[in-house]
Amino acid sequence: MNHIIHCKCVKCGRTYAPAADITICECGGILDVIYDYESIKTRFNKEVLARRDDPTMWRYRELLPIEEDTVPTGLQVGMSPLYEAQKIAEDLGVKRLYIKDDGVNPTASLKDRASAMAVTKAIEAGYDTIACSSTGNAASSLAGNAAKAGLKTYIFVPSRAPKGKIAQLMMFGANLTAVDGSYEETFELSKAAIDKYGWYNRNAAINPYLSEGKKTVAHEICEQLDFNAPDFVAVSVGDGCTIAGVYKGLYDMYRVGLIDRIPRIISVQAQGCCPINTAVMNGEDWRPQEENTYADSIAVGVPRNPDKAINAIKDSDGICVNVTDDEIREAQKYLAKNAGVFGEPAGVTATAGLMKLSREGKLPHDTTIVSIVTGNGLKDIDSAIRSVGEPIHCGNDLAEFEEKFGL
Ligand SMILES: *Cc1c(COP(=O)(O)O)cnc(C)c1O
Ligand SMILES: [Zn+2]
Repeated sequence: MNHIIHCKCVKCGRTYAPAADITICECGGILDVIYDYESIKTRFNKEVLARRDDPTMWRYRELLPIEEDTVPTGLQVGMSPLYEAQKIAEDLGVKRLYIKDDGVNPTASLKDRASAMAVTKAIEAGYDTIACSSTGNAASSLAGNAAKAGLKTYIFVPSRAPKGKIAQLMMFGANLTAVDGSYEETFELSKAAIDKYGWYNRNAAINPYLSEGKKTVAHEICEQLDFNAPDFVAVSVGDGCTIAGVYKGLYDMYRVGLIDRIPRIISVQAQGCCPINTAVMNGEDWRPQEENTYADSIAVGVPRNPDKAINAIKDSDGICVNVTDDEIREAQKYLAKNAGVFGEPAGVTATAGLMKLSREGKLPHDTTIVSIVTGNGLKDIDSAIRSVGEPIHCGNDLAEFEEKFGL
């Protein structure tokens, strides 16, 4: 991979060769993949992209940590739609608002970008089994992408994971363990098993290539906006790998000269579980918190990638905002009704953050904003039904129907 200089520890700066199964630094720090942008620039530009008809995340392969002859694994991940939402822009009082709907990926979340990368790297490295722990979406996306590629999976999720995600895992044939404990405990069990059995490790903050997969969401946003950088990109935050990926993708595009500035990132967490935002807002080190939110995908009390996430917020001159579960429920209904996009709770949390900032008068008016929807609402129908209620029931009787709707 001669377009990569090395992998560099975000804590101590030590560098490593980019082996396909590299994990963390000796010091425990997370590695960042450092690219040779000057050389990439000579063969990657708007014209090259315009000619490319690959409708997946792999259209940015010059900026991805794969060998030149690597064949990406089969599912169609990426190139999710970017919708302009005029009504929401008006309500928020901003110039333009776009919804990046990553819930339309093959297993219905943004995690497919990381899992497709993980499966591709596992095959490059010659593994036949891949494992991870996850709040649910990383797991179901890994199981799906691995099923397509013919790899075996061992997967650990907290037993609180919503039924939709469990159903996906069982269907994709994962060796699934539902851990009776927190996400922290789930992670620890997966780590012990992976260490013992030597499977390929898809734990996002351990494997440096995963946020490299996730970053393609930002590449796409830039390309879909014809390389006019938005002013803000809003995203929900759990472990911190997604926001780190969003920043990295924007940084890539800036460094190869395709956008002229890096948008400010809005980091949105649940009020009941916001260790990363708390650290940035108070200017202190992060501390573990309880996992008190129904937005299961971001109920992460001990974030696995706090350093990269905090750097992403700081380096982009970002904004932190925390939202309550009620604000998330409200955003879920609002987004579905006004944009036709049904996100899972953590999937709409970014939009909930924008609604809150707008209410507090903290969103500058003359701005273009992209809100990323990270997961599909059908993953968790129980909580959706709880917030919208049951439908109106009616027999085969027109008069009863008219009465019930007041027609
Ligand atoms: C994983 C996930 C997030 C947050 O990503 P992190 O890398 O954990 O910060 C947000 N929304 C959804 C739907 C997710 O699955
Ligand atoms: Zn280090």
